[in-house]
Amino acid sequence: MAVFPQYLRQPDGGRGPRRAGNMATITFSDSGDVLEIRKIVAIGANYTDHIREMGLEPPEAPMVFLKPATSVIHEGTPIVHPDFSRLMHHEVELGLVVGRPCKGLEADDAGDAIAGYFLALDMTLRDLQGEARERGDPWSVAKGFDGACPISHALTLVDPARLRDLSLTLAVNGEIRQDSTTANMIWTSEELVAIVSRFFTLERGDLILTGTPAGVGPVKRGDTIGARLGDELSFAFEVV
Ligand code: MG
Repeated sequence: MAVFPQYLRQPDGGRGPRRAGNMATITFSDSGDVLEIRKIVAIGANYTDHIREMGLEPPEAPMVFLKPATSVIHEGTPIVHPDFSRLMHHEVELGLVVGRPCKGLEADDAGDAIAGYFLALDMTLRDLQGEARERGDPWSVAKGFDGACPISHALTLVDPARLRDLSLTLAVNGEIRQDSTTANMIWTSEELVAIVSRFFTLERGDLILTGTPAGVGPVKRGDTIGARLGDELSFAFEVV
């Protein structure tokens, strides 16, 4: 039986952010462009240190999953800890904004398809993810609940080389938990866009989350998560 039978009796209907009627968007702070987010493609296990801490084998190919657009929240909206989980983890990630429709790209051509980059959290219900792993079920609930994708504004990408060594840090209540660089990614941003575009048609405004480095861990109600990407992007989210 499920670990959290109270979920069956008391569905979490009231605490989450209410998105009905509001499309998810990402805003470029430099150009002012606002793009509608149609889908979010996320990559699991793209940093060797994180693979090790999770006790996983290095994958032969990137693990690809989806988060719904309704999981997006912006700074100022708190992360609501769902009642149906007892173990919510933070994962700090580099995010990419797809700039044009594309399908079946080669990595050499993928840089042109990346319009911008941003800072993201891939909030994860680690208990539900573990249960899903055991049962062979998808991660949709563990990774896709309302508020599971806090994002910053985006910056226009001029040169894809910019993405190859950006510092990526996350602190909980001021204590550093994750401290790495995108130089530790197994697959580069361009390679990920190319790989994802083999599976899914990518559209302008789609987001790609590129995986998290080591140091993932739990957050609880009352915590504040602060994160930073390079010198340019940072945010803080309260967990309620
Ligand atoms: Mg992740």
